[in-house]
Amino acid sequence: MILVSACLLGINCKYNGGNNRVPVLAELCRQGKVIPVCPEMLGGLPIPRPPAEIRGGSGSDVLAGKAKVVNREGDDVTAAFLRGAEETLTLARLFGAKKALLKESSPSCGSSTIYDGTFTGTKKAGEGVTTALLRSHGIEVFSEKELKKLLPEETQ
Ligand code: SF4
Repeated sequence: MILVSACLLGINCKYNGGNNRVPVLAELCRQGKVIPVCPEMLGGLPIPRPPAEIRGGSGSDVLAGKAKVVNREGDDVTAAFLRGAEETLTLARLFGAKKALLKESSPSCGSSTIYDGTFTGTKKAGEGVTTALLRSHGIEVFSEKELKKLLPEETQ
């Protein structure tokens, strides 16, 4: 079983109430091969919600208490992001998932890039809070841009 960002399956859980549906992933979900997760919803955040970015580091820095997650209104939402990451890890353990395919650049789900905390649309190298927690527990995390690498048969 593979954890997949719920927004990639067409669930309208993005901060703005939209989604990032990838048809092949939605089909795999219909076949019962993937588990939808939205760390920000699991952390108790509403839809819609102000966009958030990691300020002062990457996801692993947030886990270590060295950086925080703030939203565009200036609120510190770190606690909700940490809670969502923990709940996602719990789901991974419940389903025995060793891999995850999560939405790139999200402050929760990003796996190689994140926004830089300035709310100017600028990206930098880094990973989201949930990605960092999953990786620290041995779960491989890919982005939707690596679909062919993770699921070569389904994407031929
Ligand atoms: Fe999608 Fe992850 Fe953001 Fe939820 S937290 S909307 S699954 S990118």
